[in-house]
Amino acid sequence: MYMKNMTWGEFNANKDKVVILPVGSTEQHSYHLPLSTDSVIAEGVSEEFAERIGGIIAPTLCYGYKSKPMSGGGPLFPGTIDLNGETLIHLAMDVLEELCRDGIKKIFVNNAHFENEAFLLEAIDIVSRRYPDVKILESNWWDVLSQDVIDKVFEDVPFPGWALEHAAITETSLMMYFAPELVREDAIPAETGFSPIPYHKYPIVKGMVPDSGALASAKGSSAEKGRIITEAAVEEFVRIAKENF
Ligand SMILES: [Zn+2]
Repeated sequence: MYMKNMTWGEFNANKDKVVILPVGSTEQHSYHLPLSTDSVIAEGVSEEFAERIGGIIAPTLCYGYKSKPMSGGGPLFPGTIDLNGETLIHLAMDVLEELCRDGIKKIFVNNAHFENEAFLLEAIDIVSRRYPDVKILESNWWDVLSQDVIDKVFEDVPFPGWALEHAAITETSLMMYFAPELVREDAIPAETGFSPIPYHKYPIVKGMVPDSGALASAKGSSAEKGRIITEAAVEEFVRIAKENF
């Protein structure tokens, strides 16, 4: 199912399948999660999704648009490697166009980094105008979760909203599920007490977000919650793929 492990001949013989493009980032995720968190989650969800629909997983885009202080902690953490918006648009455009040129007709862009979406949609829109016969879908695992699933995951802690769910319960639980060996459980920061400002401020300066880089606490995370989120998201992705492809 991984395109990177196929020969060109094998890829060529499977062009009728859905190609899933996971998109992540290289971004700080507090004291307890690795810089690859968004990419690991994008790929993990894509793997279960691909299994269900017999899809092909294209190589993951592991860099994303700039981390914003109020949704990702911002750029002032070592190891956060951000792309300019223009770069991400062109990166995604080039990859999507190459897939279209190869004769792929069904593409699902599976994004796992909050700030990427507008730039991915711009790339998809431009490519779509050039290749109107190719269907391209885009979604994020958090967008397809029902209120029931959110209630279940946050039954013992309050839900802080998706922007603050950075390195918090959902991402930590997903990492415990997909890659427990990469989670430093002892280093999970306690309640941050952080309340975001309702505007953006440039230049971005230190002190706008907690030192840990977490915007809400990850206490209460579990691999089981990660499994619940993954199953629900994959179920929806499968439904969306069946409905549209
Ligand atoms: Zn993240």
